[in-house]
Amino acid sequence: MSTSLPHETGPTPDEASVDLDQLRRTYRAQRDRRAPSGSTRTYTSTAGAFGYYAKDPYTPHRERRPLSDTVEALIIGAGFGGLLTAARLKDAGVDSVRIMDEAGDVGGTWYWNRYPGIHCDIESYVYMPLLEEVGYMPKWRYAPGEEIRQHAIAIAEHYGLYNDALFQTRATALEWDAERENWLVTTDRGDRFHATYVVTSSGTLTQPKLPGIPGIETFRGHTFHSSRWDYSYTGGDADGGLSRLADKRVAVVGTGATGLQLIPHVGRDAQHLFVFQRTPSTVDVRDNRPTDPEWAASLRPGWQRERMENFLEVLAGEHVEESLVTDGWTATVDLQRQILSGAVDESVSPEERELRDELDDARTMNRIRSRVDDVVADSATAEALKPWYRYMCKRPGFSDEYLQTFNRPNVTLVDTADHGGITRMTETSVLVGDEEFEVDCVIFATGFEVGVSGVLSGTLPVTGRGGQTLLEAWGQGIETLHGFSTHGFPNLFHLSALQNANSVNFTHILQEQAEHIAAVIGEGRRRGARYLEPTLEAQHAWVREVAATASDTRAFQAECTPGYYNGEGTRSIGGATYSPGPVVFHRVLREWRANRMHEILVDPSTSRPQETVGAGVSA
Ligand code: NDP
Repeated sequence: MSTSLPHETGPTPDEASVDLDQLRRTYRAQRDRRAPSGSTRTYTSTAGAFGYYAKDPYTPHRERRPLSDTVEALIIGAGFGGLLTAARLKDAGVDSVRIMDEAGDVGGTWYWNRYPGIHCDIESYVYMPLLEEVGYMPKWRYAPGEEIRQHAIAIAEHYGLYNDALFQTRATALEWDAERENWLVTTDRGDRFHATYVVTSSGTLTQPKLPGIPGIETFRGHTFHSSRWDYSYTGGDADGGLSRLADKRVAVVGTGATGLQLIPHVGRDAQHLFVFQRTPSTVDVRDNRPTDPEWAASLRPGWQRERMENFLEVLAGEHVEESLVTDGWTATVDLQRQILSGAVDESVSPEERELRDELDDARTMNRIRSRVDDVVADSATAEALKPWYRYMCKRPGFSDEYLQTFNRPNVTLVDTADHGGITRMTETSVLVGDEEFEVDCVIFATGFEVGVSGVLSGTLPVTGRGGQTLLEAWGQGIETLHGFSTHGFPNLFHLSALQNANSVNFTHILQEQAEHIAAVIGEGRRRGARYLEPTLEAQHAWVREVAATASDTRAFQAECTPGYYNGEGTRSIGGATYSPGPVVFHRVLREWRANRMHEILVDPSTSRPQETVGAGVSA
């Protein structure tokens, strides 16, 4: 059942004859339907008055005494990035490693997100890191969230990281102590301790966000965000069985990667489910299956790294003898390359390449739209569920249960596109235009604020050598050597995609980053460096290299329907990461470690740093 029909979407062209002009017109019309206007694209942070949306429902608050000691390495963030860095530092001989997180345990995104149906949609054999080191084989090709969270715990146990872990603790400031030549760390638990090395790995999609719906605060029913699932209200667990929803009318707002996974469970168990959709996701085949024990037994040592490398190479458009992972991601490689960067076939002119890409894109999207018709019985609902944009405008989705949910009599799709989302909320209802939906509970699967955590946003102020803050040093634009460190901020390293690499299999990126940082720190210790800090020359050269090789995705993004990939329709996301892609980037790092490590080691005999701080170049 659908409550409103989409605007003229035009005919679905068949595979053989793709009418690109018609398709472009349709995409533009669909984009303009959702174009940013007024408050419809605004979001409310889950801080301040809405802070209860971000409260931890999983671990009770634990009291502890403030610390005032000294550690060798502090890792801020106990998700996979932090765990991998801590593990590699231990491997490099650094015994004193403290991990810190606001959460009540390790796991990062897998600590917070425990909604019913949660799975990772990247193959577990390449996504879950350190499988061979920890001695674990995932049970499923696409692992459930709880299995991944347990694996994070197993990594922490395996490397002894619980011995000095601070949970429920947020770093409030980092200040370089010139006397001691280390960092003074302060936290919201009253700690004031010192750390020789600090590594920040605070994630990019961590702070839940709520849509800025007028009247959202007046709703008197139950409400929560998908990343803080309230099982005491719904019953059940991450496998489903939400028995307490049997007499409840439930609204789910949001149909991104999260909505796709939880909606089938809520649809199965609620008395009635209203799905409020603004933009449909692409929903491709999932094809999850248990791990084949024979295949697992046939694997030889080193298999995971080989598989991860192979997947990364395939996704970056590199030539491989055989693709070891074959799934929805590898089937749409060319389409991802346009946005996520990677190798380009230079033998084809840019115009010809663009045309081929667009045709490829149209065929893929036609297949995905046809799947909606094949699965969804009601034709108006099927029309509203069809995505009309180019493949990488939004994060691709996969499910073999989501579309089927709309064939249930107790599930209603509410298409809000013509209103830019939900119009308003009252004490009892959600309104779209004048149409009112009375509900007992509203679940927001509305995503996360992008890049608000840690040093970039200023929520963690960093004061470096000479009293300059990191944000002041980056006043003319972000400046790093390989994304990891900045001149004037000794012994401080960041894990992120900025001026670094990116890939859909982000744990692979984190693993390379962790290994690089551990190698640099290990070498610094071996050579007795006073501290580790990139020279201005090396940093400038890297910023210039990132700028010179940046691929311009603005034209592509401008045609896309709004979302967090294109700054809600207002800006391009291009240029922030190293455009030639992760395979090239990892090669650059290997070459640098072999030949140019001196660019970051401050000589033990040097009593003063040789360059002035902050004479920046802009990217
Ligand atoms: P998203 O930001 O991707 O989706 C938010 C959803 O809420 C969108 O459908 C958005 O619509 C909708 N929305 C926002 N405001 C309103 C409104 N006012 N009215 C109606 N609808 C509204 O968040 P997700 O949590 O789904 O995913 C975030 C990211 O987390 C993913 O992109 C992915 O990177 C990661 N993830 C990964 C998974 C994995 O398996 N590896 C699983 C789940 C998430 P619109 O599109 O129109 O803005």
